[in-house]
Amino acid sequence: MILYNTLGQKKSEFIPHTEGKVNMYTCGPTVYHYAHIGNLRTYIMEDVLEKYLRYSGYDVTRVMNITDVGHLTSDADTGDDKMLEGAKREHKSVMEIAKFYTDAFFEDCKKLNIKTPDVVEPATNCIDDFINMVSALIDKGYAYFAGGNVYFDTSKLDNYYVFGNMNADDLEVGVREDVDSDENKRNKTDFVLWFTKSKFEDQALKWDSPWGVGYPGWHIECSSISIKHLGEYLDIHCGGVDNAFPHHTNEIAQSEAFLGHKWCNYWFHVLHLNDNTGKMSKSKGEFLTVSLLESKGYNPLVYRMFCLQSHYRKPLTFSYESLDNTAKAYDKLVKRISSLKNDGEVDKAKSEELDGKFREALDNDLNTSLGLTAVYDVLKAETNDATKRYVIEKFDEVLGLDLTKAEAEEASDLDSEIEELIAKRQQARADRNWAEADKIRDDLLARNIKLIDTPEGVKWKKIN
Ligand code: AMP
Ligand code: ZN
Repeated sequence: MILYNTLGQKKSEFIPHTEGKVNMYTCGPTVYHYAHIGNLRTYIMEDVLEKYLRYSGYDVTRVMNITDVGHLTSDADTGDDKMLEGAKREHKSVMEIAKFYTDAFFEDCKKLNIKTPDVVEPATNCIDDFINMVSALIDKGYAYFAGGNVYFDTSKLDNYYVFGNMNADDLEVGVREDVDSDENKRNKTDFVLWFTKSKFEDQALKWDSPWGVGYPGWHIECSSISIKHLGEYLDIHCGGVDNAFPHHTNEIAQSEAFLGHKWCNYWFHVLHLNDNTGKMSKSKGEFLTVSLLESKGYNPLVYRMFCLQSHYRKPLTFSYESLDNTAKAYDKLVKRISSLKNDGEVDKAKSEELDGKFREALDNDLNTSLGLTAVYDVLKAETNDATKRYVIEKFDEVLGLDLTKAEAEEASDLDSEIEELIAKRQQARADRNWAEADKIRDDLLARNIKLIDTPEGVKWKKIN
């Protein structure tokens, strides 16, 4: 598979550290509010990546953290604690907020057919691990204690800006805020590993540490949780593009300083979902969530398809108009698939040929829109319905759109509609309204549904 790698900023062949196995790490949600559909774009595309790696035969282990401490509103070391902000807003404790929004996140994921990672680890479960890593960084000379906090010393690295200047705008923001706010830092890019003295005197969650009572910085959690569960070599680290700096840049700094060797080979970043006013965020305008889309009558999988229709490395603009177009396309597609008959033998050679096209699309830096085209190609292919159905079912292991399952719902809707019409016809006959009874029979016949009067009652069958 060819993947774009933010490290090096080019596409290259994906080769895992251990043949046949993939260690994958995902930055999880900060659970102070519902996830917006922009966050979920990132998780949908990461889910497709994971599923395609499995489809390609890799044994994947995927780990995700839950950020329930340490993430400040600036992404750097300034601003308010996001969890505390959520707790104040809702007059609840931080842990209540964390539990509520973690559950809400996984409910959204379920609706979007996003698989739960093999390991899900809340940051507050791993405080001892963070403390051990911070201690080791001090021992190795990469971290220092100043003004009550522990900082990572970025001047000890040959190359701190590992991703180049791709995020020039983000770099500006991160660096400027740091400079203004913290005189303890020896270098403007240094970042906090452990806070004790900070402006958050009322920080709700605090732990004892060799440096005093306090709490961990945000970046340390991902390095530590990844190394804890996936070992010293990580194959793919994912996240939204805003995570590249400072979060992932700092993760690399501390992980490689700690391990003494290169840590992660591939960095997969999903570009943002925007609305017509710019980047989607939790504090802006109508807060777009999966539940909001549902309340407006959209099937969440239509949003999943909307994401798959464009490439993960391009910004995507959300509008209800485009979502409506996707909803129409989705319904049409599912209907076409549900009309495929179940009979016949699967043509293995043909199915492999069709599968080849699908793989070609996804092997090319996860081109999901061409992956969807491959589904339409199957429908048009010169082969029997059984083969088409079989191949589409396989593709759906990766696409996750319930392309063949949705049919079952449709079929049962159809069943109940026909049963209702049969009952109406029986009533019309009882009322000696022969014209009405015949009309119902003829209308159904026009839809290829034939009614058969038997001694046990009225039965029906599909005819062609
Ligand atoms: P957070 O809950 O803020 O920690 O973010 C969760 C994930 O969503 C991270 O991987 C972010 O990079 C990503 N993300 C944040 N905003 C957007 C957006 N507008 N579009 C796509 N992904 C985003
Ligand atoms: Zn992270």
